[in-house]
Amino acid sequence: MKCKICGQSYLEEIFNAKILKKYSITYFFCHQCGFLQTEEPFWLEEAYAEPINTSDTGYIQRNITLSQKTTILLSLFFNREGKFLDYAGGYGMFVRLMRDIGFDFYWYDKYTPNLFARGFEATNWGGGEVRGSDSI
Ligand SMILES: [Zn+2]
Repeated sequence: MKCKICGQSYLEEIFNAKILKKYSITYFFCHQCGFLQTEEPFWLEEAYAEPINTSDTGYIQRNITLSQKTTILLSLFFNREGKFLDYAGGYGMFVRLMRDIGFDFYWYDKYTPNLFARGFEATNWGGGEVRGSDSI
């Protein structure tokens, strides 16, 4: 398995978590570019039968909370002037929020239309090609 961002072949197994309330998934970290990714996803068709579940009433609040937490992390531990990619960015709400805060965020999602961050697709980021099985 290779890093979907930089192509590095060594990825460190970091943790496991349960998704869709039934699958135990392994997460891997790339020490070359800092990307955290899951094992090869086998659950996407099921997960994205509908991009947003009709019972997901916390979608907006969750994005607001995560944008606040991410702002703290990026401000303390990263170059806040850098370019950032929300890989599998859904409808683009998180990218929209992070851009409104002042970060140079871009969106990519193979399965969901970009509704909130139009014009900021990864193809426009100027940071190089997004590689891997989901390459665009
Ligand atoms: Zn990498």
